[in-house]
Amino acid sequence: MNIILLGPPGAGKGTQARILVETTGFVQLSTGDMLRAAVAAGTEVGRKAKAVMEAGQLVSDDIVIGVVSDRLDEPDTRAGVIFDGFPRTAAQAEALDRLLAEKGLTLDAAISMEVDDELLVDRVSGRYICAACGEGYHDRYKKPAQEGVCDACGGTEFNRRADDNAETVRARLVAYHADTAPLIDYYTGTGKLKTVDGMAEIDEVTRAIRRALGPG
Ligand code: AMP
Repeated sequence: MNIILLGPPGAGKGTQARILVETTGFVQLSTGDMLRAAVAAGTEVGRKAKAVMEAGQLVSDDIVIGVVSDRLDEPDTRAGVIFDGFPRTAAQAEALDRLLAEKGLTLDAAISMEVDDELLVDRVSGRYICAACGEGYHDRYKKPAQEGVCDACGGTEFNRRADDNAETVRARLVAYHADTAPLIDYYTGTGKLKTVDGMAEIDEVTRAIRRALGPG
């Protein structure tokens, strides 16, 4: 099964993608994670993407589509893919349709995670992840059971993303509304759109996604 998690920054796409990976065996394809890894590794893609990401703007379609195309050539994606943060523009959505068709794959659903804009800056600016395993936390909404220790792996180092500050989050929201929100209409048109309430508790959102995906 191949599914897209669609929603603004802070909607919970990464959190839900990680949960789905554990329960389904699908792979998470996060273009944000892949681009951050490219920046950290200092690759050509990373050099081109760095300043754009720091400004909260969208990296060019060509770069992102190239990264996704390469990733889809890896055999583990045949187990099913959860697209997290991709596609983000109409050109990317069309490219994804093309890439999937070329590889004999289909898109099963695009899950739109609906959240109130006013809460997003707060959600995003309080979040951090375990440096060792990537488990996500939040200053207020999801603290580790024992302060300073990751629930998932016991790690004690945590990272905050450079672009998770209030100013950059606002720029990312502008980009979302201008370029990504129109994809809701695109996937309504293809009959793939399912909507879930992203404001609910994490477990409830997971259940809503499972209901939206149907049995099996
Ligand atoms: P994310 O981790 O999904 O919030 O992405 C972080 C940043 O990476 C975004 O603000 C963009 O600068 C860039 N990015 C990630 N995915 C895409 C994409 N599909 N298209 C363009 N830029 C992207």
